[in-house]
Amino acid sequence: MKDLRGYIGRAMEMKGLSVDFEIARALCENPDKTLLFTEVRDYGFRVVGNVVRNRADIYQALGTDSRRYIRDVLKAYDNPVEPAVVEKAPCQEEECSLYDIPVLRHFEKDGGPFITAGIVTAKDPEHGRNASIHRLMVHDDNRLGIRIVPRHLFEYHRRAEERGEDLEVAISIGVHPALFYAASYSPPLGYDEFALAGALMGHPLEVVRCRTVDVEVPALSEFVIEGRILCGERRSEGPFADVTGTYDRVRQEPVIEVTKVTHRKDAIYQALLPSRAEHRLFMGMPQEPRIFKSVAEVAPVKNVCLTDGGRNWLHGVISLGKGERDIKKVIDHAFAGHPSMKHVIIVDDDIDIFDPVDVEFALATRFQGHRDAYIYRDMRGSTLDPSTDEDGRTTKVGIDATIPAGREEDYGSAKIP
Ligand code: MN
Repeated sequence: MKDLRGYIGRAMEMKGLSVDFEIARALCENPDKTLLFTEVRDYGFRVVGNVVRNRADIYQALGTDSRRYIRDVLKAYDNPVEPAVVEKAPCQEEECSLYDIPVLRHFEKDGGPFITAGIVTAKDPEHGRNASIHRLMVHDDNRLGIRIVPRHLFEYHRRAEERGEDLEVAISIGVHPALFYAASYSPPLGYDEFALAGALMGHPLEVVRCRTVDVEVPALSEFVIEGRILCGERRSEGPFADVTGTYDRVRQEPVIEVTKVTHRKDAIYQALLPSRAEHRLFMGMPQEPRIFKSVAEVAPVKNVCLTDGGRNWLHGVISLGKGERDIKKVIDHAFAGHPSMKHVIIVDDDIDIFDPVDVEFALATRFQGHRDAYIYRDMRGSTLDPSTDEDGRTTKVGIDATIPAGREEDYGSAKIP
């Protein structure tokens, strides 16, 4: 069975740090190490962070590699595996209070301590289960602020409020990265993220019913916070340094009243440092299969990468195989697959899209600005890009850095016989 503690076997230990900025600083200063914090000051639980450090870790967690990744994920997506309900689960072995959990303060002006690796699960009478990741601000010993952007959980909460009801939720903290990836994936409304997790992990995800709410949670979660999003209640949430490393402003956001906290024996709290590689990769990498699928409708796409330089969100590189391809259509479909993308570069599959130097080589030798740049003015931009207009409009550019058909001879690299 796959869980967090099994995955982090090789973590480096650090003793005696505080949840107030010290652990966040250690995570920031050691981006290439998974860190296990023991003897955390004032807390009885251990903390782990930088669980995923780079793309290779996510490939490994999913049992794949850079070449097979997109196809493997799309295959899992097409073959969901229903979770299995168990009666007894490690995540319910013991109980504690919200204040016993070593929640981190990350950045100087954050509005408080934030839970950043919590998978929030809820049910809707029509749409079934939803699992998604939300930042959670600790208001007091039994209340959490939850930032909900207009997606699935937002809809569940809106519908519950329309019925005049609280929305029961459970928050799982500390799970295997393949499950965390599934909860980050955002499949269409009604598609159960836990079934995607089962397909990605190669066995049904074991879930257990919560004690105080009618929601199931992964049986091997380190911590589970049960509660309800209160009907009609809003409270100031933020500021919070989000994915770009700049502060997201204070908003009136829903409030969760906590009804119970359970945990595994010797539970490990999972921290996730906002704006760094782990945060960006879990946001960006699930978009790559989406872009692939969209482009595959019009061209023989080989691979897709949202690059580190584009913060795994704003810049894409796409490689194409041989065959019929209309580059304008490829670019249109790429932007449709990931509407937040601002620049996309199309290359042939002799270019290594994960190597920025190789991509620059394609730009230097295969691209002419007057002929190969496709400019889209006045598009809806990403709120994460500070260079967009005040009203959030942006210019997108698609770049054709492929070799023109029939010219392969002229563009080929010279070889020594
Ligand atoms: Mn969903």
